[in-house]
Amino acid sequence: MHPRDFQLPAAAFSGPRDLRIRWLGTAGFELVAPDAVLYIDPYLTRVSLGRFLFRKLVPHADRIAALAADAAHARARAILVSHSHFDHALDVPLLAKLTGAHVYGSRSTANLMQAHGSEAATALEHGRRTTFDCGSFRVTAVPSAHSTFALGGRVPYAGDIPCTCDIAGGGLKGGAYRCGDVFNFLIEYGDFRMYHLGSANLAEDQIPSEARGVDLLLLCIVARFATEKFIPRTVAALSPGAVIPMHYDNMFRRADKPMMLLPRTDFGRFVDDLRAVSGEPTVVTLPLTSFASAPPAASPLPPPQGLTTP
Ligand SMILES: [Zn+2]
Repeated sequence: MHPRDFQLPAAAFSGPRDLRIRWLGTAGFELVAPDAVLYIDPYLTRVSLGRFLFRKLVPHADRIAALAADAAHARARAILVSHSHFDHALDVPLLAKLTGAHVYGSRSTANLMQAHGSEAATALEHGRRTTFDCGSFRVTAVPSAHSTFALGGRVPYAGDIPCTCDIAGGGLKGGAYRCGDVFNFLIEYGDFRMYHLGSANLAEDQIPSEARGVDLLLLCIVARFATEKFIPRTVAALSPGAVIPMHYDNMFRRADKPMMLLPRTDFGRFVDDLRAVSGEPTVVTLPLTSFASAPPAASPLPPPQGLTTP
């Protein structure tokens, strides 16, 4: 099985009539409502592996400007950042600057924003859940954990981006994008509930009861091998009606090249594991949005199980 086997043609998608979603690659999504735009972990730059390892990382300004231009109509804009690794946080300061979006993430993410001269960030406390509104969206940040897939069963590049971080020399190297605290996001849009889980680990005791039975789970599936019983535990905690798996694309490749999966994605095993514990959930994959040329129009959400669609 391959993600493309679960990709519906855009014309077949239907969901909440006025809500649109695009997958930006990795854990990145854009949610567009008539009055607001939410970005989650937007990462369009997709640096090469060589650059990640040896050079300072520079956001791809043209791609980020193209994304920002698409949201120019919205009155409310926010960027949610699950953690501050490069593939979740590198593009956030520039996108925030171009869109005027407010950033919600860890202290580590707020330090990164500050290093770029911006105070437009809220440092979420990791000891509790935080709820806030962005236009019609109600967001609850839920403390969570990162997959421990580095050698020795550790979180890769653990720790915080310090408040003393200095980008004056042309940016930070990949490894300087420390993980920081990790958050999931429960996003409510009217009666429709989504849950973004940006690293393949979870803290069940932090998940609020409102997240049970979410209509749609945006689920990171890379490096899930490091978390014991990740799929069964996630399904037990959230009972999602539908799942959009993500963060399986090789983010060191450009989005306009044929997609390659990250090592150990084992997509078929993911589907089998999901079905083993939850029967026949709706699994849908979204096309990877490329900003190398004109980006495709946003697709309405796929219909989760049990949801009556217009
Ligand atoms: Zn990470």
